[in-house]
Amino acid sequence: MAQLMKYQLIRSKRKTLSLQISDNAELLIRAPNRLSVQKIEKFIHEKQHWIEKKQALIKNTKRKMHYHEGESFLYLGNIYPLKLMHMQKPQIHFDGAYFHLSGNGQTHFHAWYKNAFRNIALPRLDYYANLHQLNYNKVYLKAQKTRWGSCSHINNINLNYLLIMAPMSVIDYVIVHELAHTKHKHHQSEFWQLLDSILPNNHQAKDWLKERGYQLRRL
Ligand SMILES: [Zn+2]
Repeated sequence: MAQLMKYQLIRSKRKTLSLQISDNAELLIRAPNRLSVQKIEKFIHEKQHWIEKKQALIKNTKRKMHYHEGESFLYLGNIYPLKLMHMQKPQIHFDGAYFHLSGNGQTHFHAWYKNAFRNIALPRLDYYANLHQLNYNKVYLKAQKTRWGSCSHINNINLNYLLIMAPMSVIDYVIVHELAHTKHKHHQSEFWQLLDSILPNNHQAKDWLKERGYQLRRL
């Protein structure tokens, strides 16, 4: 038998064995008080493949960018490798195939993505607002930890500029979603009907964010 993975055992009066992968990728085993360690470890062994897959996924989700040579950075849904430069002046630029960086990666990428969002994605807010007469008040660009966008009760819209890493269809979805909230301050059927009427394929964008959204939060 291959070496057994580390786990934390929590015994209680329960009747069945269960396993859980914690938020920091630790394996937790809940077991009945009297179940033998041998049986517990046999159970872990049988599930080892599934456990390792789950743990790898969690670790990958939590991974932060290192700003190393060759590391991949997203922009409009495509992946571009990083090349490090050794310049006197700290800077970042994108040539259509590579990002070039000298200096602090986190600071420069945040600034670059925010600027790219302002130039490329933000005009779509006014485009959709005018086309569908959805009037907003002010717009703010922020790198929020948990939200892609929001719309306040006075119709100020916040957009997460890290969305510039996602395909334009995903950015459009978030923009139209927040614009639809200027009319409907809820997620009931009238809201989704309005959204569907403007962007009929919005479920694909939603799925993209669900599956890959974590990759936008690595900066
Ligand atoms: Zn919403």
